[in-house]
Amino acid sequence: MKSYDVAVIGLGIVGASAVDYLAAEGIRAIGLDAFGPTHGFGSSRGESRIFRRAYWEGAAYLPLLNRAHDLWTALQADCDVPVVVHTGGLFVGSKATGVVRSSRDTARAGNIPHEMLDAAQVRERYPAFRMSGDMEAIYEPGAYMVLADRARLAMLDRAVGRGAELRFGTRVSKVTHSGGGITLSTASGDSFACAAVVVATGPWIAGEFIEEVRPFLRPVRVPIYWFRPRPGEESEYDPGRFPVFLHEASDGRLLYGLPSQDDAGVKIGFHNRQQVEADPRMPDRVVSDVFRNEMADYIEEVFPSLDPVPIRSRICFYTLSNDGNFIIDRTRHHPNVSYASACSGHGFKFAPAVGESAARLAIGKDPIVSLEPYALSRFTG
Ligand SMILES: Cc1cc2nc3c(=O)[nH]c(=O)nc-3n(C[C@H](O)[C@H](O)[C@H](O)COP(=O)(O)OP(=O)(O)OC[C@H]3O[C@@H](n4cnc5c(N)ncnc54)[C@H](O)[C@@H]3O)c2cc1C
Repeated sequence: MKSYDVAVIGLGIVGASAVDYLAAEGIRAIGLDAFGPTHGFGSSRGESRIFRRAYWEGAAYLPLLNRAHDLWTALQADCDVPVVVHTGGLFVGSKATGVVRSSRDTARAGNIPHEMLDAAQVRERYPAFRMSGDMEAIYEPGAYMVLADRARLAMLDRAVGRGAELRFGTRVSKVTHSGGGITLSTASGDSFACAAVVVATGPWIAGEFIEEVRPFLRPVRVPIYWFRPRPGEESEYDPGRFPVFLHEASDGRLLYGLPSQDDAGVKIGFHNRQQVEADPRMPDRVVSDVFRNEMADYIEEVFPSLDPVPIRSRICFYTLSNDGNFIIDRTRHHPNVSYASACSGHGFKFAPAVGESAARLAIGKDPIVSLEPYALSRFTG
Protein backbone atom coordinates (compact mmCIF):
# COMPACT_ATOMS: atom_id res chain seq x y z
CA MET A 1 0.00 0.00 0.00
CA LYS A 2 1.42 3.43 -0.91
CA SER A 3 1.68 5.83 1.96
CA TYR A 4 1.56 9.63 2.21
CA ASP A 5 1.72 12.24 4.90
CA VAL A 6 -1.62 13.75 3.87
CA ALA A 7 -4.42 12.76 1.48
CA VAL A 8 -6.84 15.35 0.14
CA ILE A 9 -10.23 13.93 -0.88
CA GLY A 10 -11.88 16.06 -3.58
CA LEU A 11 -10.05 18.31 -6.04
CA GLY A 12 -12.56 21.09 -6.55
CA ILE A 13 -11.12 24.54 -5.86
CA VAL A 14 -10.84 23.90 -2.10
CA GLY A 15 -9.06 20.54 -2.43
CA ALA A 16 -6.83 21.91 -5.21
CA SER A 17 -5.66 24.71 -2.97
CA ALA A 18 -5.17 22.34 0.00
CA VAL A 19 -2.96 19.93 -1.98
CA ASP A 20 -1.04 22.85 -3.51
CA TYR A 21 -0.39 24.31 -0.06
CA LEU A 22 0.75 20.94 1.36
CA ALA A 23 3.12 20.36 -1.55
CA ALA A 24 4.57 23.86 -1.07
CA GLU A 25 5.31 22.91 2.55
CA GLY A 26 7.29 19.91 1.32
CA ILE A 27 4.68 17.49 2.65
CA ARG A 28 4.16 14.22 0.78
CA ALA A 29 0.59 14.71 -0.37
CA ILE A 30 -1.86 12.95 -2.66
CA GLY A 31 -5.05 14.47 -4.06
CA LEU A 32 -7.90 12.20 -5.15
CA ASP A 33 -11.01 13.03 -7.13
CA ALA A 34 -13.90 10.82 -8.18
CA PHE A 35 -14.17 12.43 -11.63
CA GLY A 36 -11.93 14.05 -14.25
CA PRO A 37 -10.00 17.32 -13.88
CA THR A 38 -12.73 19.65 -15.24
CA HIS A 39 -15.94 17.70 -14.58
CA GLY A 40 -19.15 19.65 -14.07
CA PHE A 41 -20.87 17.64 -11.31
CA GLY A 42 -19.81 19.72 -8.31
CA SER A 43 -19.47 23.43 -7.59
CA SER A 44 -16.17 24.62 -9.08
CA ARG A 45 -16.57 24.12 -12.82
CA GLY A 46 -16.90 27.19 -15.04
CA GLU A 47 -15.05 29.96 -16.79
CA SER A 48 -15.37 32.58 -14.05
CA ARG A 49 -16.20 33.54 -10.45
CA ILE A 50 -16.46 36.89 -8.65
CA PHE A 51 -13.87 38.14 -6.15
CA ARG A 52 -15.00 41.16 -4.11
CA ARG A 53 -14.15 42.52 -0.68
CA ALA A 54 -16.80 45.19 -0.07
CA TYR A 55 -18.65 42.21 1.30
CA TRP A 56 -22.35 42.72 2.02
CA GLU A 57 -22.26 39.43 3.91
CA GLY A 58 -20.25 41.15 6.66
CA ALA A 59 -16.89 42.51 7.78
CA ALA A 60 -16.20 39.30 9.72
CA TYR A 61 -15.16 37.72 6.41
CA LEU A 62 -12.41 40.29 5.81
CA PRO A 63 -9.44 38.41 7.33
CA LEU A 64 -10.16 35.33 5.21
CA LEU A 65 -10.88 37.49 2.14
CA ASN A 66 -7.62 39.39 2.55
CA ARG A 67 -5.64 36.18 2.88
CA ALA A 68 -7.38 34.75 -0.19
CA HIS A 69 -6.63 37.92 -2.15
CA ASP A 70 -2.91 37.59 -1.32
CA LEU A 71 -2.95 33.97 -2.44
CA TRP A 72 -4.79 34.72 -5.73
CA THR A 73 -2.21 37.44 -6.38
CA ALA A 74 0.61 34.97 -5.71
CA LEU A 75 -0.99 32.39 -8.01
CA GLN A 76 -1.24 34.98 -10.79
CA ALA A 77 2.43 35.88 -10.29
CA ASP A 78 3.31 32.20 -10.85
CA CYS A 79 1.26 31.92 -14.06
CA ASP A 80 2.11 33.07 -17.56
CA VAL A 81 -1.56 33.29 -18.56
CA PRO A 82 -4.25 35.38 -16.85
CA VAL A 83 -6.03 33.60 -13.99
CA VAL A 84 -7.65 36.80 -12.72
CA VAL A 85 -9.12 39.66 -14.77
CA HIS A 86 -9.50 43.06 -13.15
CA THR A 87 -12.99 44.33 -13.95
CA GLY A 88 -14.06 46.29 -10.86
CA GLY A 89 -17.34 45.40 -9.15
CA LEU A 90 -20.67 47.23 -9.21
CA PHE A 91 -23.19 46.35 -6.51
CA VAL A 92 -26.60 47.81 -7.23
CA GLY A 93 -29.74 47.81 -5.12
CA SER A 94 -32.87 49.54 -4.07
CA LYS A 95 -32.31 52.00 -1.20
CA ALA A 96 -34.98 50.03 0.67
CA THR A 97 -32.86 46.88 0.83
CA GLY A 98 -29.49 46.06 2.29
CA VAL A 99 -26.83 44.91 -0.17
CA VAL A 100 -25.43 48.33 -1.08
CA ARG A 101 -25.42 49.68 2.48
CA SER A 102 -23.92 46.48 3.91
CA SER A 103 -21.23 46.44 1.22
CA ARG A 104 -20.40 50.04 2.07
CA ASP A 105 -20.16 49.21 5.79
CA THR A 106 -17.67 46.41 5.11
CA ALA A 107 -15.70 48.57 2.68
CA ARG A 108 -15.41 51.26 5.35
CA ALA A 109 -14.47 48.76 8.07
CA GLY A 110 -11.75 47.25 5.89
CA ASN A 111 -10.47 50.46 4.22
CA ILE A 112 -11.40 48.99 0.88
CA PRO A 113 -11.42 51.61 -1.88
CA HIS A 114 -14.99 52.23 -3.03
CA GLU A 115 -17.26 54.86 -4.45
CA MET A 116 -20.98 55.43 -3.84
CA LEU A 117 -22.95 56.14 -7.02
CA ASP A 118 -26.49 57.40 -7.50
CA ALA A 119 -28.78 56.10 -10.22
CA ALA A 120 -27.81 58.84 -12.73
CA GLN A 121 -24.08 58.16 -12.26
CA VAL A 122 -24.60 54.43 -12.85
CA ARG A 123 -26.64 55.14 -16.00
CA GLU A 124 -23.86 57.35 -17.34
CA ARG A 125 -20.97 55.00 -16.58
CA TYR A 126 -22.63 51.62 -17.01
CA PRO A 127 -25.48 52.09 -19.47
CA ALA A 128 -26.21 48.36 -19.52
CA PHE A 129 -27.95 48.67 -16.12
CA ARG A 130 -31.51 50.01 -16.00
CA MET A 131 -31.67 52.17 -12.87
CA SER A 132 -34.76 53.72 -11.30
CA GLY A 133 -34.49 56.78 -9.05
CA ASP A 134 -34.85 54.78 -5.83
CA MET A 135 -31.71 52.79 -6.59
CA GLU A 136 -28.09 53.32 -5.63
CA ALA A 137 -24.80 51.51 -6.09
CA ILE A 138 -21.36 51.00 -4.68
CA TYR A 139 -18.38 50.55 -6.99
CA GLU A 140 -15.36 48.56 -5.79
CA PRO A 141 -12.49 49.18 -8.23
CA GLY A 142 -10.42 46.31 -6.79
CA ALA A 143 -13.05 43.61 -7.42
CA TYR A 144 -12.16 41.07 -10.08
CA MET A 145 -13.08 37.95 -11.94
CA VAL A 146 -11.19 34.73 -11.18
CA LEU A 147 -10.96 32.52 -14.26
CA ALA A 148 -12.23 29.50 -12.38
CA ASP A 149 -11.19 26.45 -14.42
CA ARG A 150 -7.91 28.04 -15.41
CA ALA A 151 -7.05 29.03 -11.84
CA ARG A 152 -7.91 25.61 -10.43
CA LEU A 153 -5.89 23.81 -13.12
CA ALA A 154 -3.00 26.20 -12.48
CA MET A 155 -3.11 25.29 -8.78
CA LEU A 156 -3.13 21.59 -9.61
CA ASP A 157 -0.22 22.03 -12.04
CA ARG A 158 1.71 23.94 -9.42
CA ALA A 159 0.95 21.26 -6.82
CA VAL A 160 2.35 18.56 -9.11
CA GLY A 161 5.37 20.74 -9.84
CA ARG A 162 5.90 20.97 -6.09
CA GLY A 163 5.80 17.18 -5.72
CA ALA A 164 2.14 16.31 -5.07
CA GLU A 165 0.58 13.22 -6.61
CA LEU A 166 -2.92 13.48 -8.10
CA ARG A 167 -5.39 10.75 -9.04
CA PHE A 168 -8.57 11.41 -10.99
CA GLY A 169 -11.37 8.90 -11.57
CA THR A 170 -10.66 7.69 -8.04
CA ARG A 171 -13.63 7.75 -5.69
CA VAL A 172 -12.74 7.29 -2.03
CA SER A 173 -15.34 4.94 -0.58
CA LYS A 174 -14.08 4.48 2.98
CA VAL A 175 -11.87 6.22 5.53
CA THR A 176 -10.64 3.85 8.27
CA HIS A 177 -8.70 4.81 11.38
CA SER A 178 -6.29 2.16 12.59
CA GLY A 179 -3.51 2.41 15.16
CA GLY A 180 -3.01 6.15 14.81
CA GLY A 181 -2.88 5.94 10.99
CA ILE A 182 -5.60 6.34 8.40
CA THR A 183 -6.43 4.14 5.41
CA LEU A 184 -8.39 5.35 2.42
CA SER A 185 -10.12 2.71 0.31
CA THR A 186 -11.28 3.53 -3.18
CA ALA A 187 -14.24 2.28 -5.20
CA SER A 188 -11.80 0.58 -7.60
CA GLY A 189 -10.19 -1.44 -4.80
CA ASP A 190 -7.00 0.57 -4.13
CA SER A 191 -5.89 1.59 -0.66
CA PHE A 192 -3.69 4.45 0.54
CA ALA A 193 -2.18 4.90 3.97
CA CYS A 194 -1.74 8.38 5.37
CA ALA A 195 -1.23 10.22 8.61
CA ALA A 196 -3.74 13.01 7.95
CA VAL A 197 -6.70 13.72 5.65
CA VAL A 198 -8.37 16.84 4.29
CA VAL A 199 -11.96 16.22 3.18
CA ALA A 200 -12.95 18.75 0.51
CA THR A 201 -15.81 16.96 -1.19
CA GLY A 202 -18.10 19.98 -1.68
CA PRO A 203 -21.79 19.00 -1.87
CA TRP A 204 -20.93 15.31 -1.32
CA ILE A 205 -19.70 16.12 2.18
CA ALA A 206 -23.30 16.05 3.40
CA GLY A 207 -23.45 12.34 2.57
CA GLU A 208 -20.02 10.87 3.32
CA PHE A 209 -17.15 10.72 5.83
CA ILE A 210 -17.97 13.62 8.19
CA GLU A 211 -21.17 12.60 9.92
CA GLU A 212 -21.32 15.49 12.35
CA VAL A 213 -21.82 18.13 9.63
CA ARG A 214 -24.83 16.45 8.04
CA PRO A 215 -27.58 18.09 10.08
CA PHE A 216 -26.27 21.55 9.19
CA LEU A 217 -25.82 21.22 5.42
CA ARG A 218 -28.19 21.23 2.48
CA PRO A 219 -26.88 20.68 -1.07
CA VAL A 220 -29.02 22.45 -3.65
CA ARG A 221 -28.89 22.55 -7.41
CA VAL A 222 -28.94 26.03 -8.95
CA PRO A 223 -29.11 27.11 -12.58
CA ILE A 224 -26.73 29.54 -14.23
CA TYR A 225 -27.39 31.28 -17.56
CA TRP A 226 -25.45 32.97 -20.38
CA PHE A 227 -26.84 35.86 -22.44
CA ARG A 228 -25.83 37.80 -25.56
CA PRO A 229 -26.30 41.54 -26.05
CA ARG A 230 -28.93 42.53 -28.60
CA PRO A 231 -27.35 43.46 -31.96
CA GLY A 232 -25.74 46.90 -31.79
CA GLU A 233 -25.56 46.87 -27.97
CA GLU A 234 -22.38 44.78 -27.64
CA SER A 235 -20.11 47.63 -26.55
CA GLU A 236 -22.03 48.08 -23.25
CA TYR A 237 -20.87 44.61 -22.25
CA ASP A 238 -17.22 44.82 -23.30
CA PRO A 239 -15.10 43.13 -20.61
CA GLY A 240 -13.15 46.39 -20.19
CA ARG A 241 -16.36 48.31 -19.55
CA PHE A 242 -18.75 45.92 -17.86
CA PRO A 243 -17.89 45.01 -14.25
CA VAL A 244 -18.70 41.95 -12.18
CA PHE A 245 -21.94 42.85 -10.46
CA LEU A 246 -24.65 42.16 -7.90
CA HIS A 247 -28.16 43.46 -8.45
CA GLU A 248 -30.68 43.38 -5.64
CA ALA A 249 -34.34 44.04 -6.44
CA SER A 250 -36.65 45.78 -3.97
CA ASP A 251 -38.27 42.40 -3.18
CA GLY A 252 -34.86 40.99 -2.17
CA ARG A 253 -34.12 38.92 -5.29
CA LEU A 254 -30.35 38.97 -5.71
CA LEU A 255 -28.75 38.54 -9.09
CA TYR A 256 -25.01 38.20 -9.75
CA GLY A 257 -23.14 38.34 -13.03
CA LEU A 258 -19.83 38.52 -14.83
CA PRO A 259 -18.63 39.82 -18.19
CA SER A 260 -18.35 37.40 -21.08
CA GLN A 261 -15.16 35.37 -20.93
CA ASP A 262 -13.81 33.50 -23.96
CA ASP A 263 -16.92 34.70 -25.85
CA ALA A 264 -19.16 32.49 -23.66
CA GLY A 265 -21.73 35.26 -23.16
CA VAL A 266 -22.61 37.40 -20.12
CA LYS A 267 -22.98 34.98 -17.21
CA ILE A 268 -25.87 35.64 -14.83
CA GLY A 269 -27.59 33.71 -12.03
CA PHE A 270 -29.87 34.22 -9.07
CA HIS A 271 -28.01 33.95 -5.77
CA ASN A 272 -31.07 33.40 -3.59
CA ARG A 273 -33.71 31.85 -5.86
CA GLN A 274 -34.24 28.79 -8.04
CA GLN A 275 -32.50 26.53 -5.50
CA VAL A 276 -33.80 22.97 -5.35
CA GLU A 277 -32.60 20.51 -2.74
CA ALA A 278 -30.76 17.70 -4.54
CA ASP A 279 -28.31 14.86 -4.11
CA PRO A 280 -25.14 15.52 -6.16
CA ARG A 281 -24.93 11.77 -6.91
CA MET A 282 -28.19 11.79 -8.84
CA PRO A 283 -28.70 15.31 -10.03
CA ASP A 284 -31.43 16.16 -12.46
CA ARG A 285 -29.47 18.54 -14.71
CA VAL A 286 -32.29 20.07 -16.74
CA VAL A 287 -33.11 23.75 -16.19
CA SER A 288 -36.90 24.00 -16.15
CA ASP A 289 -38.86 26.34 -18.43
CA VAL A 290 -40.38 27.93 -15.32
CA PHE A 291 -36.91 28.95 -14.13
CA ARG A 292 -35.74 30.04 -17.59
CA ASN A 293 -38.85 32.20 -18.01
CA GLU A 294 -38.47 33.77 -14.56
CA MET A 295 -34.88 34.66 -15.39
CA ALA A 296 -35.83 36.00 -18.85
CA ASP A 297 -38.46 38.30 -17.27
CA TYR A 298 -35.92 39.63 -14.79
CA ILE A 299 -33.28 40.19 -17.49
CA GLU A 300 -35.78 42.17 -19.53
CA GLU A 301 -36.42 44.37 -16.48
CA VAL A 302 -32.77 44.91 -15.50
CA PHE A 303 -30.73 44.63 -18.73
CA PRO A 304 -32.96 45.76 -21.60
CA SER A 305 -30.03 45.60 -24.03
CA LEU A 306 -29.50 41.85 -23.45
CA ASP A 307 -31.46 39.31 -25.44
CA PRO A 308 -33.53 37.78 -22.57
CA VAL A 309 -33.45 34.29 -24.08
CA PRO A 310 -30.34 32.61 -22.63
CA ILE A 311 -27.95 31.11 -25.15
CA ARG A 312 -27.07 28.42 -22.62
CA SER A 313 -27.89 27.30 -19.10
CA ARG A 314 -26.43 24.74 -16.77
CA ILE A 315 -26.90 23.23 -13.30
CA CYS A 316 -24.31 23.80 -10.58
CA PHE A 317 -24.33 22.99 -6.84
CA TYR A 318 -24.38 25.15 -3.74
CA THR A 319 -23.79 23.49 -0.35
CA LEU A 320 -25.84 25.64 2.00
CA SER A 321 -25.16 25.77 5.70
CA ASN A 322 -27.82 26.85 8.17
CA ASP A 323 -26.30 30.34 8.47
CA GLY A 324 -24.88 30.80 4.95
CA ASN A 325 -21.34 30.61 6.32
CA PHE A 326 -18.57 28.07 5.74
CA ILE A 327 -17.58 25.18 7.98
CA ILE A 328 -13.83 24.63 8.35
CA ASP A 329 -12.91 22.32 11.21
CA ARG A 330 -11.38 19.07 12.41
CA THR A 331 -13.63 16.08 12.78
CA ARG A 332 -14.31 15.15 16.38
CA HIS A 333 -13.35 11.51 15.57
CA HIS A 334 -9.76 12.19 14.56
CA PRO A 335 -7.50 15.20 15.20
CA ASN A 336 -5.75 14.72 11.84
CA VAL A 337 -8.88 14.74 9.70
CA SER A 338 -10.03 18.21 8.72
CA TYR A 339 -12.78 19.32 6.36
CA ALA A 340 -13.95 22.43 4.59
CA SER A 341 -17.30 22.90 3.00
CA ALA A 342 -20.61 24.71 3.01
CA CYS A 343 -19.54 27.14 0.34
CA SER A 344 -23.11 28.46 0.50
CA GLY A 345 -22.69 29.76 -3.03
CA HIS A 346 -19.92 32.26 -2.25
CA GLY A 347 -16.89 30.13 -1.45
CA PHE A 348 -14.77 30.23 -4.59
CA LYS A 349 -13.17 33.60 -3.87
CA PHE A 350 -12.08 32.33 -0.43
CA ALA A 351 -10.83 28.95 -1.61
CA PRO A 352 -7.04 29.51 -1.54
CA ALA A 353 -7.32 30.56 2.10
CA VAL A 354 -9.89 27.87 2.94
CA GLY A 355 -7.76 25.07 1.43
CA GLU A 356 -4.70 26.37 3.22
CA SER A 357 -6.63 26.57 6.51
CA ALA A 358 -8.04 23.04 6.25
CA ALA A 359 -4.60 21.68 5.34
CA ARG A 360 -2.98 23.41 8.32
CA LEU A 361 -5.64 22.01 10.65
CA ALA A 362 -4.96 18.48 9.36
CA ILE A 363 -1.23 18.74 10.01
CA GLY A 364 -1.62 20.37 13.42
CA LYS A 365 -0.44 23.87 12.46
CA ASP A 366 -2.19 26.98 13.72
CA PRO A 367 -4.33 28.63 11.07
CA ILE A 368 -3.03 31.88 9.59
CA VAL A 369 -6.47 33.45 9.90
CA SER A 370 -8.72 32.73 12.90
CA LEU A 371 -11.15 29.96 12.02
CA GLU A 372 -13.44 30.63 14.95
CA PRO A 373 -16.27 32.03 12.80
CA TYR A 374 -16.18 28.84 10.73
CA ALA A 375 -16.09 26.23 13.52
CA LEU A 376 -18.84 23.62 13.68
CA SER A 377 -19.31 24.45 17.36
CA ARG A 378 -21.35 27.53 16.38
CA PHE A 379 -24.13 25.03 15.59
CA THR A 380 -23.43 22.32 18.13
CA GLY A 381 -22.51 24.54 21.11
C1 LIG B 1 -23.23 28.75 -10.46
C2 LIG B 1 -22.29 29.08 -9.34
C3 LIG B 1 -21.72 30.33 -9.28
C4 LIG B 1 -20.87 30.67 -8.24
N1 LIG B 1 -20.31 31.91 -8.24
C5 LIG B 1 -19.42 32.21 -7.27
C6 LIG B 1 -18.75 33.47 -7.32
O1 LIG B 1 -18.93 34.27 -8.24
N2 LIG B 1 -17.86 33.74 -6.33
C7 LIG B 1 -17.62 32.88 -5.31
O2 LIG B 1 -16.82 33.19 -4.43
N3 LIG B 1 -18.22 31.66 -5.26
C8 LIG B 1 -19.10 31.31 -6.21
N4 LIG B 1 -19.72 30.09 -6.20
C9 LIG B 1 -19.39 29.11 -5.12
C10 LIG B 1 -18.12 28.33 -5.45
O3 LIG B 1 -18.07 27.96 -6.80
C11 LIG B 1 -18.02 27.13 -4.52
O4 LIG B 1 -17.98 27.65 -3.20
C12 LIG B 1 -16.76 26.31 -4.73
O5 LIG B 1 -16.63 25.95 -6.08
C13 LIG B 1 -16.83 25.04 -3.84
O6 LIG B 1 -15.71 24.24 -4.14
P1 LIG B 1 -15.43 22.87 -3.42
O7 LIG B 1 -14.05 22.50 -3.77
O8 LIG B 1 -15.83 22.97 -1.99
O9 LIG B 1 -16.49 21.83 -4.04
P2 LIG B 1 -16.49 21.08 -5.46
O10 LIG B 1 -16.04 21.96 -6.54
O11 LIG B 1 -17.85 20.49 -5.61
O12 LIG B 1 -15.42 19.94 -5.30
C14 LIG B 1 -15.67 18.76 -4.59
C15 LIG B 1 -14.91 17.66 -5.30
O13 LIG B 1 -14.93 16.49 -4.48
C16 LIG B 1 -14.99 15.37 -5.33
N5 LIG B 1 -15.49 14.23 -4.55
C17 LIG B 1 -16.68 14.13 -3.91
N6 LIG B 1 -16.78 12.95 -3.26
C18 LIG B 1 -15.61 12.31 -3.50
C19 LIG B 1 -15.10 11.04 -3.09
N7 LIG B 1 -15.80 10.22 -2.32
N8 LIG B 1 -13.86 10.67 -3.51
C20 LIG B 1 -13.11 11.50 -4.30
N9 LIG B 1 -13.56 12.71 -4.72
C21 LIG B 1 -14.79 13.10 -4.31
C22 LIG B 1 -15.92 15.80 -6.44
O14 LIG B 1 -15.74 15.02 -7.60
C23 LIG B 1 -15.52 17.26 -6.63
O15 LIG B 1 -14.56 17.42 -7.65
C24 LIG B 1 -20.59 29.73 -7.22
C25 LIG B 1 -21.17 28.46 -7.27
C26 LIG B 1 -22.01 28.13 -8.31
C27 LIG B 1 -22.60 26.75 -8.34
